[in-house]
Amino acid sequence: MRLYNTRTRQVEEFAPADGQTVRMYTCGPTVYDVAHIGNMRSFLVSDLLVRTLKYLGWQVLNVMNITDVDDKTIARSRESGETLRAYTDRYLDLFLEDLATLRIEPAWRYPRATEHIPSMIQLIQKLLDRGHAYVSEGSVYFDISSFPRYGLLSGCLPSSAEAAAAYSRLDSDEYARDDIRDFALWKAAKPDEPSWDSPWGPGRPGWSIECSAMSMEYLGPTLDLHVGGVDLIFPHHENEIAQSEGATGQEFVRFWVHVEHLIVDGQKMSKSLGNFLTLRDLVERGYEPMAIRHQLMTAAYRKQLNFTLEGLRQSTLALFRLWDFADRLQEISRPGDASAILADDLESADSRFEMALRDDLNIPEAMAVVFDLVNQVNPALSRNQLSRTDANALLEFLNRADRVLGFIAHDKGSLDSEVEKLIAEREEARRSRNYARADEIRDELLRRGIVLEDTVQGTRWRRSFE
Ligand code: AMP
Ligand code: ZN
Repeated sequence: MRLYNTRTRQVEEFAPADGQTVRMYTCGPTVYDVAHIGNMRSFLVSDLLVRTLKYLGWQVLNVMNITDVDDKTIARSRESGETLRAYTDRYLDLFLEDLATLRIEPAWRYPRATEHIPSMIQLIQKLLDRGHAYVSEGSVYFDISSFPRYGLLSGCLPSSAEAAAAYSRLDSDEYARDDIRDFALWKAAKPDEPSWDSPWGPGRPGWSIECSAMSMEYLGPTLDLHVGGVDLIFPHHENEIAQSEGATGQEFVRFWVHVEHLIVDGQKMSKSLGNFLTLRDLVERGYEPMAIRHQLMTAAYRKQLNFTLEGLRQSTLALFRLWDFADRLQEISRPGDASAILADDLESADSRFEMALRDDLNIPEAMAVVFDLVNQVNPALSRNQLSRTDANALLEFLNRADRVLGFIAHDKGSLDSEVEKLIAEREEARRSRNYARADEIRDELLRRGIVLEDTVQGTRWRRSFE
């Protein structure tokens, strides 16, 4: 497939180095709080990429790190009076739950930073041995001047002034560096903070070293793909390259994939701006998780996506329409051969779908292929012209597409019991020719988003999508 590589700033032909298995690493969450749907967009893109690579026939080993030690997790666990472990366990569980709610397939491994301190220490030692790092007051820093390639990913070697500004936001308390642009690999312990023993005294790892150490521990020195949000390009990913390549002398990542932000009113959705929504907020308000998945997929990953509740409403309607289409296909019993026209439509949908995926993960286009097919087939479906054979062929296509899209499979039988009672009562009213009452109930159901359709096979219900 063709994929945009941030490092070369070009769309390039991608294939795993060994021709079979994609070694992929996705920067995961810091488990200090519930993730917002902006974070979830990044993880969803990673999921879509994994699913696409599998769809195209490759095996994928996807590793996602869990950052369970940093300034935020330490501060929050302290406020809550819990140990760092107990505190981060809780948010890790909530995160995994959120992934499941959005039908994001589990990664192959979810290594936690605190469980990989020895391999980080080993990596730091290697950097010291190779002259890329130095010890100062119990901390270890990467010496940027020892690594001429620093800055190639983000496109510029930051001036000292820019770097000072960036780093002062990150860790304003570090003055022991030779150059303000040098970054911490190991931070000397502060009083009352969790710490681990190391050759340089007690301390904790710097933020970026975990990704270098854990990705290479599970996937080897060279990854095929590395995914994260665009805000991670500098300094996080720049640092990962310096640490990994400094230690191994080999190329660290073949393809860098960066996800643009989810924005709200022109600004990045973020905790610090306070303009964020969590998946839980939206589900509690009654939004269908698969509609949220759909909405987060409506822009290509390299474009910003503006989140609005109106957009989410549109996604809900589109989804219900698609689900009803699949339900009606399930209900067809008419025997007969496959119709030739439909077979042509399906073949072209299949190839357009795959082309869209191969074209730098053009998910909006792949979604359009599915919805176009629904529009093409709907008239014949309404006129009862499809056979069981046709229906099966269409359902097979939807299943195939769903291996990537992930929002088509659904469980129709989840009407609440009150609604079921109303439907039964309307049947009864119709049998006793009380049409006024039957219409009343139909209107009541409509207000609840349920549409009743009287067909030759009897009455069927669907969710309203008008
Ligand atoms: P964090 O838990 O802060 O380390 O972030 C986890 C992931 O979410 C990273 O890949 C970030 O780049 C990404 N991210 C943060 N904010 C947004 C946003 N508004 N839209 C898309 N991705 C985001
Ligand atoms: Zn990372």
